Amino acid sequence: MIVIDGSEGEGGGQVLRTALSLALVTGKAFRIENIRANRSRPGVMRQHVTAVEAACAIGGAECEELAVGASALSFTPGKIKPGEHRFAVGTAGSTNLVLQTVLPPLMLAGAPSRLVLEGGTHNIYAPPFDFIERVFLPVLNRMGPSVTARLVRHGFYPAGGGRIEAEIEPCRSLSRLDLVERGELRSVKARALVAALPGEIAARELDAAGAVLGWPEEARRVEQLSERAGPGNILMLEAVFDQAAELVSGFGKPGVPAQIVGEHAAKRMAGYLASTAVAGPYLADQLLLPFALAGGGSFTTVKPSQHSRTAAEVISRFLDVGISFEERDSDHLVSVRKMD
Ligand code: AMP
Repeated sequence: MIVIDGSEGEGGGQVLRTALSLALVTGKAFRIENIRANRSRPGVMRQHVTAVEAACAIGGAECEELAVGASALSFTPGKIKPGEHRFAVGTAGSTNLVLQTVLPPLMLAGAPSRLVLEGGTHNIYAPPFDFIERVFLPVLNRMGPSVTARLVRHGFYPAGGGRIEAEIEPCRSLSRLDLVERGELRSVKARALVAALPGEIAARELDAAGAVLGWPEEARRVEQLSERAGPGNILMLEAVFDQAAELVSGFGKPGVPAQIVGEHAAKRMAGYLASTAVAGPYLADQLLLPFALAGGGSFTTVKPSQHSRTAAEVISRFLDVGISFEERDSDHLVSVRKMD
């Protein structure tokens, strides 16, 4: 049994989710201890319970000691069950993180699947739905599977109530990719979404971001969502290149002026644009798992995050791959290779 110290490295929920995905794909059981031990609210939270429950349902798996607040659990995978599955994250927890947990086994399964996930769709500290759709899935789909995702209803913290659906056409094995050059910049777009909040919040975020990035008026859009989804606000800045895309998000919070939300997000996008990296910091940690399952590949990224280094550690516990990070002039090269 593989034993993982959940407090090592970045020490967040991603350690647990990466282990779940890998256990399902490899058939290897694991035990994780000290789950999120250094977080302000340590242990398993509601959204992690849903990810484990989804992994159990999809993987015919058994989990011992699963409970909100648990600091350890053991997970024994079984036979993958593709098909129709529906999961509700009881709170506004991220549906997208649940999706990412179960995608690896389903995209390598023997039959197609359809997932319906309910909960949060635009959560802080998680990929917003648009990131999954426009940044993560386009790369994944180049590796063999065909995964399409649809946003049915927005869900913000704390109300939740969002819904996403995904259809997965699996492939036999993932093909390796080398994404070293991002190519030409094709388009930029800034969207600010508000639900049950004044539209001028969104307008101020867009003005502040537009001023930093010099993006034209035509590339900016305020989107007023149904009152029922609210209150909620997210600014999303998107840059599409020939070979990749980046979507930077900024979340409105009570007490944080809209200008600051706009400026901070724009500065992060400016940092990405000034580099030559294909993958932004979040995409980088999310690509390691599929690249490792493909048995090799490479991509360029900005400075590797602690999430990326920790994901690499967890992956090496399940798969015989080596992952290296090499600093270069204006990006970092991440290489994944099979160990002999
Ligand atoms: P954890 O903090 O361990 O629960 O992991 C959070 C996951 O969400 C990581 O895979 C991050 O790459 C991803 N993530 C967090 N914030 C964003 C964001 N703004 N855009 C895209 N992905 C994100």
